[in-house]
Amino acid sequence: MQDTALYQYLLGLQTPWTVSRVHLDITQQRVDIWAEHPADVAWVCPQCTKRLPLYDHAEERTWRHLDSCQFQTHLHARIPRVACGEHGVVQVTVPWAEPRSRFTLLFERLAIDVLRQCDVRGATRILRISWDEAWGVMQRAVTRGRTRKQARMVRRIGVDEKAAAKGHRYLTVVCDLDEGTVEYIAEDRKQESLDRYYAGLTPEQLTGIEAIAMDMWEPYIQATRARVPEATGKIVFDRFHIMGHLGKAVDTVRKQEHRELMASGDETLKGSKYLWLYSQENVPAQRREEFAALKRQELKVGRAWAIKEAFRCLWHYVYPASGWKFWKRWYFWATHSRLKPIRKAAETIRQHISNIVTYYQHPITNAMSEGLNSQIQKIKSMACGFRNIEHFKTAIYFHCGGLDLYPC
Ligand SMILES: [Zn+2]
Repeated sequence: MQDTALYQYLLGLQTPWTVSRVHLDITQQRVDIWAEHPADVAWVCPQCTKRLPLYDHAEERTWRHLDSCQFQTHLHARIPRVACGEHGVVQVTVPWAEPRSRFTLLFERLAIDVLRQCDVRGATRILRISWDEAWGVMQRAVTRGRTRKQARMVRRIGVDEKAAAKGHRYLTVVCDLDEGTVEYIAEDRKQESLDRYYAGLTPEQLTGIEAIAMDMWEPYIQATRARVPEATGKIVFDRFHIMGHLGKAVDTVRKQEHRELMASGDETLKGSKYLWLYSQENVPAQRREEFAALKRQELKVGRAWAIKEAFRCLWHYVYPASGWKFWKRWYFWATHSRLKPIRKAAETIRQHISNIVTYYQHPITNAMSEGLNSQIQKIKSMACGFRNIEHFKTAIYFHCGGLDLYPC
């Protein structure tokens, strides 16, 4: 077998394409292959599929192909052009690559597999491609996947904000809580950020939404009320966000009390910050005694912590009536605690309580898709934060979009 025939076979080239020449460069560890076709072939216009004779050729182009025995392999060809009466002079499609891609389909498939398994830097080393090329593969894969994606009913959705990097801009991420996929990403966390997601849905899809988990964030509430029919009974304020608000109130109480104590030289609360941020069951074993001793003292932060911990019971009730009864008792306790940050947090919760107890009808939280949250966190930490917000969006869709990313 001649090497041209061998490569024609290895590349899977089909008629009318054949390999005309192969050049092997041992020192560069590189194989270059040229493909050509007979002159009298009829081609099809890529837009209307009309069969037409050859008009001319575009400039020679090169596609990176799968390595052959560790040799970087490059395919060269001049793409035929046809003169279509309707579409003008256009390039035909070649069977080994997508239009505008610098990689053959097989290489692109491999690159997607590698990028799914490691970060972009690692993929550039394994595949011997540049940083921009790697992002190009990801972007094309995401575009492909999102174009192919069929409209479907998403019944329970989670809306969450993600910081692109510390102190940087935010993204609004909408996910399908049942499928565990990211459905939509918008920049910022304004009303229009979420509104753009709803605007892309049909009336049936909007009506089909049964429940939405979110933080008590006014722009998201407004966007949902404006678009989703009967939104009032469907919004469920996420319990982990609510506990987060209470946790911050506890921390504020600690800071103030620590300052007061330190003024009289009392170091009781020194180094205790993280203890008060834990839930009871998460206090590390080696600090449990220390924490128990602190709790036995008559500290303000101890009371604040107990009030916060007690609130978790709200989500354990099965009967809404019992939940409401608990809420009233807890609210009385919190607002009579003489702890200003706790009173303030309780007041915020009171204003939103009717969409917190919707949890009894729709037991959803943003943490349901914990896998998604940790994956997004991983994507962010691997990139050490994203200064390029488009890259962050692309990476989230690539890894979490549940998309069909591969070229056909
Ligand atoms: Zn045409």
